[in-house]
Amino acid sequence: MKPAPFTYIRPDSVESAITALAENAGARPLAGGQSLVPMLHMRLMQPAALVDLNRVAGLAGIVVDGDGLTVGALTRYSELESSPLVAERLPLLQHAVRFVGDRQVRNRGTLGGSLAQADPVGEMPLVCLALGAVVCAQSREGVREIPLDDFLLGPYTTTLEPDELIVAVRFPEAPAAYGFFEVSRRHNDFAVLAVAVTGTRGADGAWQELRLALAGVDDRPVLVPEAVRRLEGTTLDAGSIDAAVQACLAVIDPPSDVRASEEYRRHLAGVHVERVLRRLRDEEAALRG
Ligand SMILES: Cc1cc2nc3c(=O)[nH]c(=O)nc-3n(C[C@H](O)[C@H](O)[C@H](O)COP(=O)(O)OP(=O)(O)OC[C@H]3O[C@@H](n4cnc5c(N)ncnc54)[C@H](O)[C@@H]3O)c2cc1C
Repeated sequence: MKPAPFTYIRPDSVESAITALAENAGARPLAGGQSLVPMLHMRLMQPAALVDLNRVAGLAGIVVDGDGLTVGALTRYSELESSPLVAERLPLLQHAVRFVGDRQVRNRGTLGGSLAQADPVGEMPLVCLALGAVVCAQSREGVREIPLDDFLLGPYTTTLEPDELIVAVRFPEAPAAYGFFEVSRRHNDFAVLAVAVTGTRGADGAWQELRLALAGVDDRPVLVPEAVRRLEGTTLDAGSIDAAVQACLAVIDPPSDVRASEEYRRHLAGVHVERVLRRLRDEEAALRG
């Protein structure tokens, strides 16, 4: 099948892209096309117009922002993979991006496109949530800053208005230590379940600033503050980890779908939250003694 007819608009500035979105009802931005183009071909989407972002100046790039980073919406996954700044400041993001699709997908797909797509098991929404990222969405009204937790509403659904363009994603300073694990049916396939955790280990071995997020256990990635409360200030001893696992199992509501049943996802959540936390503790202890 081929896409339904649409008007093609290729702006060269953020302002003209925003004007095109505002003045063409039913227009969609086109970034890497890795989700949008298949949806057009299957006629799951039939936008009246496509606003191609690929020649918009200043929409891609990674810049230092205080102790964190600001990443332009059109920054490709492959740039995140190879950036020394991302390696230094957001190692969790750099680790997790390698799990997205294959090389071709990572050469085209963008951070902004992934967040706008809001796939419930996408690696980028999960990791941006764990890192406390903020989406910068621009329209003629100005720039709206939306924390990831407020941005993601459900499967493929966000708070983004039709006339808003994601222009950047801001990341605060991230704790140096992280853990990530993903279960998928084939290497680089979409995740069945994924766990991301960040935190800081003090000189006394006690953990602070923890954030734990899961994907594949609800209709969107979720933070689990109930689990973090069981872990903060502990050395991630076996009892605290077990309490955190139980807290996760008490709040998750996994779906059953073509990839896995609810029961299997529950089982995976228990096993992998424990595994990621134990590995985080042991690797940091080996590094710092
Ligand atoms: C073979 C294959 C395997 C894949 N595997 C994975 C995987 O393992 N994990 C994973 O997470 N994803 C996977 N994907 C999806 C991939 O991550 C997509 O790149 C991503 O979902 C969308 O990013 P994009 O830049 O390609 O956006 P597009 O496809 O161009 O757009 C996606 C949606 O976002 C909107 N949009 C794009 N940019 C903006 C913006 N700046 N502001 C507002 N709205 C915008 C578009 O209008 C559209 O609705 C896979 C895709 C393919 C083809």
